[in-house]
Amino acid sequence: MKDKSFVIKVGDLLKEGWKSDSIEFEWKLTSELPGLDKKGISWTVVLKSLNQDSLYVSLEDILCNIEDVCDRCWTSYTRKIENPEYIARFVIDEKIKQEEQETSEEEIFVINARDESIDLEPMVVQSIKLQDPFIKHCPKCEEEIADKPDEDEEEEFIGRGNIVFH
Ligand SMILES: [Zn+2]
Repeated sequence: MKDKSFVIKVGDLLKEGWKSDSIEFEWKLTSELPGLDKKGISWTVVLKSLNQDSLYVSLEDILCNIEDVCDRCWTSYTRKIENPEYIARFVIDEKIKQEEQETSEEEIFVINARDESIDLEPMVVQSIKLQDPFIKHCPKCEEEIADKPDEDEEEEFIGRGNIVFH
C-alpha cells in the first residue's frame, strides 16, 4: 500500500524564494525495500526553495534496518543502514528535469504541480539502496574474514560474480 506520509506540501516554500524548512520523519514503511523491518525508515528532510520552479532537498540522518541474507554463509542477518546525507533537487516539470539532469550533479525529481507537493519516497529509497554493499556479510562472517585476510580475497572474487548492477 502506498503510504501518503512520504508526501510534503511545498506550495508555500515555492511562493517565497530562499525559504527553508525542515521536517522529521519516523517509522515510515515502503514496499520498495524488501527486508525493511517494521520500525521502518527515519530521517530529517531539509527543504530550500531556489525559485518558483525548483527546490533543494537534503535528507539527513537516514536510518533503517534491512533483513538481508549473507553471501558467504546464507544466514539471515540485520543490516543497519545509516546515511548521514543525501541531496537531490526537485523541479516543477519533467521538461526542466530532462534539461537540467544532463548538467546536474544531483539526482533530479519532479514536483507534483497539481497540488504542489513532493513525494520523498523514491528519493529515500534511492538513498538507502546506494548503501548496499557489493558483498553482504553477516557480522559473524565479517569477524571470521577479519581474522583470515587470505580468505577475504578469495571470497571477494567469488562474490563478484553475483553482483547485480542497477
Ligand atoms: Zn555469514
